[in-house]
Amino acid sequence: PPRNSTAARDVASVLHPYTELKSHLTKGPVVIARGEGVRVWDDQGKDYIESVAGLWCAALGFSNERLVEAATAQMRRLPFYHAFTAKSYEPLIDLSEMLLERAPPSVDGAPMSKVFFANSGSEANDSAVKMVWYYNNAVGRPRKKKIIARLKGYHGVTVAAASLTGLPNNHRLFDLPIAGVLHTMTPHHYHGAEPGESEEDFATRCAEELEALILREDPETVAAMFAEPIMGAGGVILPPATYFEKIQAVLRKYDVLLVADEVICGFGRTGNYWGSQTYGIQPDILTCAKALSASFLPISAVMVNDRVFQGLAEGSSQVGTFGHGFTYSGHPVSAAVAIETLRIYDEMNLVEHAATVGAHMQAGLRERFAEHPLVGEVRGTGLIAGVELVEDKAARRNFDPARKLGARLMALGEQNGVILRAMPGDSIGFSPPLVITEAEVDEMLDRFGRALDALAVEIRR
Ligand code: PLP
Repeated sequence: PPRNSTAARDVASVLHPYTELKSHLTKGPVVIARGEGVRVWDDQGKDYIESVAGLWCAALGFSNERLVEAATAQMRRLPFYHAFTAKSYEPLIDLSEMLLERAPPSVDGAPMSKVFFANSGSEANDSAVKMVWYYNNAVGRPRKKKIIARLKGYHGVTVAAASLTGLPNNHRLFDLPIAGVLHTMTPHHYHGAEPGESEEDFATRCAEELEALILREDPETVAAMFAEPIMGAGGVILPPATYFEKIQAVLRKYDVLLVADEVICGFGRTGNYWGSQTYGIQPDILTCAKALSASFLPISAVMVNDRVFQGLAEGSSQVGTFGHGFTYSGHPVSAAVAIETLRIYDEMNLVEHAATVGAHMQAGLRERFAEHPLVGEVRGTGLIAGVELVEDKAARRNFDPARKLGARLMALGEQNGVILRAMPGDSIGFSPPLVITEAEVDEMLDRFGRALDALAVEIRR
């Protein structure tokens, strides 16, 4: 980058998350200067449609005056308080009530009971891990500690959450996963099924593998399973038909809690309020973040059912307090923004909108790209989708990762005015702001199509 440019100052000072740090020193960043609706502009004035809403999160897009006002009004009234040692404040209570009113039913149709707040999806999942351990200790089952997650699942990057994450890069060189975190198979029918195996039969096999793992480990030692309704960062992987029904039957048989990680799926992404509703999941614990505040400020939440809450209450009485919480757990300004966000979702009927525009996006992706020579599978529901690139369509074989085609496609996307997200296995994720219109979806797909065709030309050369 030219000396003294914004890009050069970035290279000289910023350590970037999820970036190849060495090549960044010569390539430099794309500097995003402002946003409006589903678009962002770089510091050269070029516009991009955000096909993943930033990091699957900016559900209302990149501008909203009501959220600006909600934040500033709360900053004037009470810029900080906390909930430690039994303190409280209205935004904390209001937001807890709103989340419980909207929560999916817990196990056996029982309502969720209490809400704990944190600042990120990772923190929410770390908190949920601790709650599971704390709960089992309190109810006299200290050995029941192991936690199962899934290969290709993504649950965050803090030590416990990164352990749950089932992607090798989050473990390699970090000495993870921690002891007691186990991974079961990825429920991806496209790659995982035997020739001719139906989705239902594949789901049965996934449940059998889970049961075998629990039995091998000893059910008395297995505490919980974490699962995203749709796996996001692992490649937008949808559960095969009957998967969660069968998984939940196994978990109930061995008294293993289910934690639904709704960090991406929550608040309309799948065309229902929760991904749990889309797939008939009745979690004991639910974590959410991202769209909770439309990402205008950081906030995440952990909802627990009454059984878990009673265990936590019992444990805290044994040792004095529930010994967990962050300075910014339920930060009042973030909470005020989240409250306004949830009101806006209701007023706009945003979940219905996501279902309708989502159907348009799904149809458009399939019509335009399912037969593309580079595309193996187009998958998704609502406003979340994945387009997977393959070298050999018949054999469903991916390109050699060393070719870095996903990264190349992201660069071509940028040239064509669309910010794309490539994941391991060269799957391109689509998760645009939920406010996107059908016309904007078409424009996004036009731009993506130009980038994909340019990649096809390069590959043939
Ligand atoms: N869980 C899921 C399903 C996610 O997609 C993410 C982030 O993308 C996380 C957890 C971690 O959230 P955060 O990056 O806010 O820590």
